[in-house]
Amino acid sequence: MALESPTPQQSRCLNCGFEAPGGDDEWIRLEVPGLGRMTQCPSCESTNVITGR
Ligand SMILES: [Zn+2]
Repeated sequence: MALESPTPQQSRCLNCGFEAPGGDDEWIRLEVPGLGRMTQCPSCESTNVITGR
């Protein structure tokens, strides 16, 4: 047994609880002028998402 099983870096929507790996195609990526890149939940369209990294 070498390493503990690698935990994929999950991103999670704080609004509805949707989870998917950070950077996954399921997430909607928004380019917001002045703010940069944001991740949007495909389920509830909230941008209140914590990214896995
Ligand atoms: Zn959501």
